[in-house]
Amino acid sequence: MHIKSAEFVMSNSDVSKCPSNTLPEYAFIGRSNVGKSSLINMLTGRKSLAKTSGRPGKTQLINHFIINNNWYLVDLPGYGYARVSKSSKKIFQKFITDYFSKRTQLVSAFVLVDIRHKPQPVDLEFMQWMGENQIPFSIVFTKADKLKPKAIERHVDEYSEILLEQWEEMPNYFITSSSKYIGKDELLQFIQDTNDEINALRKS
Ligand code: GDP
Repeated sequence: MHIKSAEFVMSNSDVSKCPSNTLPEYAFIGRSNVGKSSLINMLTGRKSLAKTSGRPGKTQLINHFIINNNWYLVDLPGYGYARVSKSSKKIFQKFITDYFSKRTQLVSAFVLVDIRHKPQPVDLEFMQWMGENQIPFSIVFTKADKLKPKAIERHVDEYSEILLEQWEEMPNYFITSSSKYIGKDELLQFIQDTNDEINALRKS
């Protein structure tokens, strides 16, 4: 997919105020520092698109960008647990769960994880929550330039092994590096193919 245009649309903490049209939407999420802004800028070919919404005070917001005037890229803040008082129960921040539960335009999410790290409980629990709520997602391994090819393979294998304790099959995944432009074409192709499928379905 060639990115002809990428523009910031709006930031919200309330899912009901997000754009009301029916353009397909893809959300990017992960722990802070995972490389999300860099990935969004790499994908869109814009040096600081994600940073414009990442300015202080905007970190807990749902940020919409419109790409090629036909799909939305959504930059979500890092997820983490919100502890419910009076109990030790941990839940994800409400506006994140609200976004995923209510946003019918969402086609698929990309859950970013740093390829160097072992699976972290918060990432695994978030993916588990996505699965239980039937929200389609792909895993995006970031910072692949930090490892040699053999180590990449080993880390992905280890990640799958742990995931397969919870999942019947390994979710769709991408290996990326924003500094080396790895995975850009594959990820954009996936979005293009998915958009094409949606358009074909809408026409039929
Ligand atoms: P965010 O907090 O998830 O938006 O992460 P950023 O995109 O701001 O990146 C966090 C840090 O990781 C920064 O120091 C980036 O330069 C670095 N980083 C991000 N992507 C890559 C990558 O693909 N390769 C390398 N080597 N570093 C990266």
